[in-house]
Amino acid sequence: MPRLDIARPHSRVLRYDATTGKARVEEFGLRTEHLGGSGLAAALYEASGLASAPADAEEQPVIFAVGPLTGLFPLMSKSVCGFRSPYNGQWTESHAGGRLALSLRFAGYDALVVTGRAPELSCLVVGGHEIRTIPVPFLRGADVFRTGKYMRGLGHGVSGHRSTIRIGSAGENGVGYACINVDSFRHFGRLGSGTALGRKNLKGIQVIGDGSATLPQKGTYAALLKDIHVDVTTTSAMRKYHDLGTPENLEPLNKLRALPWRNLQKTSDPGIGGLTGLRIAEDLLLRQSACAGCPVGCIHIALLREQFGEEHDYLYKQVPYDYEPLFSLGTMLDLKDPAQVLGLMDETERTGLDCMSSGVALAWAAEASEKGIVGEGETIVPLRFGEWTGFRTALRHIAARSNEFYDILGQGAMAAAGKYGGGDFACVLGQEMAGYATGEVFFAGQALGFRHSHLDNGGYSFDQSAKEKDVDAAVKYLVDDEHGRVMLTCMVACLFARKVYTQERVQECLSSLGLEDMAQALPGASEAMRNLRYRLKADTGFDPREARIPKRYTELVTWKGEIDQSYMEAIQAGYCREILRMAGRDGEMK
Ligand code: SF4
Repeated sequence: MPRLDIARPHSRVLRYDATTGKARVEEFGLRTEHLGGSGLAAALYEASGLASAPADAEEQPVIFAVGPLTGLFPLMSKSVCGFRSPYNGQWTESHAGGRLALSLRFAGYDALVVTGRAPELSCLVVGGHEIRTIPVPFLRGADVFRTGKYMRGLGHGVSGHRSTIRIGSAGENGVGYACINVDSFRHFGRLGSGTALGRKNLKGIQVIGDGSATLPQKGTYAALLKDIHVDVTTTSAMRKYHDLGTPENLEPLNKLRALPWRNLQKTSDPGIGGLTGLRIAEDLLLRQSACAGCPVGCIHIALLREQFGEEHDYLYKQVPYDYEPLFSLGTMLDLKDPAQVLGLMDETERTGLDCMSSGVALAWAAEASEKGIVGEGETIVPLRFGEWTGFRTALRHIAARSNEFYDILGQGAMAAAGKYGGGDFACVLGQEMAGYATGEVFFAGQALGFRHSHLDNGGYSFDQSAKEKDVDAAVKYLVDDEHGRVMLTCMVACLFARKVYTQERVQECLSSLGLEDMAQALPGASEAMRNLRYRLKADTGFDPREARIPKRYTELVTWKGEIDQSYMEAIQAGYCREILRMAGRDGEMK
């Protein structure tokens, strides 16, 4: 059984070449410089990635990375997937919970780097002792559930943490926003990680964490661990994630006129009906679950009963739900019946589509249908707001790339608008929007931010708390807040715990493990990694000066009134300058 050295100076990286099936372990870089997670993935890409080669080149790596605190403190439960995005070609990251982080940690690796392309569809099994490639041509086209069932059998009888990640048909077929399913209820969701793995001809990876670590017996570790455990299990800030979870946000955002409905044609609906966190919990919640190493347990799983065949034949399904899919596959499509929304979520889960991008892309398609820009000659089935069965069939068509229309819709709403028209109402801010119509700072923050994610920065929070329209303060907030988040994604913490894990707290954690040098280096190193990520993004095609905020965002009314376009444009220009500076491209500023 491998024993882990938690205070080692280098990252331990497993490099696997899918073309040859060969693997080797190397000591990489200095952890005081790249830290882990986001920083490690970026540093690995900088060292051996191919920024000037096409995003779909076989030698482009897909990198899974964890951090120095993974598995050693509560909520240090996430892993980072770094890859060239099939959606926009750029260097990007997606983050997921589940059991993958602890499995990688206890397999003895800080990162797994996959390059090449397997000669036939395969699964990879990775442990501290073994690396096996298993041809699985019979899983071609198999859904995520069947693939998961097969793969779980591969590790039967093996002890330790085990994680099973896999793709569905969408990832095999090259959809721009196919995701990787992690242990059934978590995902590397956005920007096409599923297709990045599919390009390796890998249907999935099983990681077996069969090692162990000796924890510090002296010093501050035990007391600090206890303190943090108390903080995350007793403060109200964390309790809300366990109780109703993020769906709790639906009702207040709707009241605030900040919840996108009907492809963002409106920001509130008095008839929200059963689509609230409380009603879903009362009517459909089956249980809560947690990522490995997390005592909070925010994963809400509903029991969905679907009729099939004869009158009294039912299928019972467990469907995880959060705020974001309830917005993208619910309110954006003008659906208010939670069972219908859960039915769409189940379809994205089955096919391996990102639920947020799929829902927002379908919302554009529904409005394009309403306006007569596309017809059933393109959509095959009628796509109408409020009618869920058409959307369910359409999700299958996106995953299958059934015709020219679905082929391009699978590259995103803006790609489809580029062919058919309707760019003004494509709700795309770098990628399909997240569920916050809070105002100018959030829109600029998502359009330009590194991952085009609501998790890059708290722009939605600034919109709600700022008393005045202060452009400089807004831009400073976006830059500083992202710095704090990158520090955490280098560790790799769940961002729900960001109030618990302040920089000082993280430094204490590192010191308690004997990583004093890293604790000292943390502020500067996390800033350097934030900048490196932007540099890699720029090297692989991103130009923040070309970022566009579609017209729809200027037509909104929130609780603050109409969107102030000049304020939004000033934030966009200021943030753009900051991103060019962080990417080391100051010379390109006008
Ligand atoms: S709070 Fe939720 S997402 Fe975060 S680590 Fe815990 S279970 Fe996972």
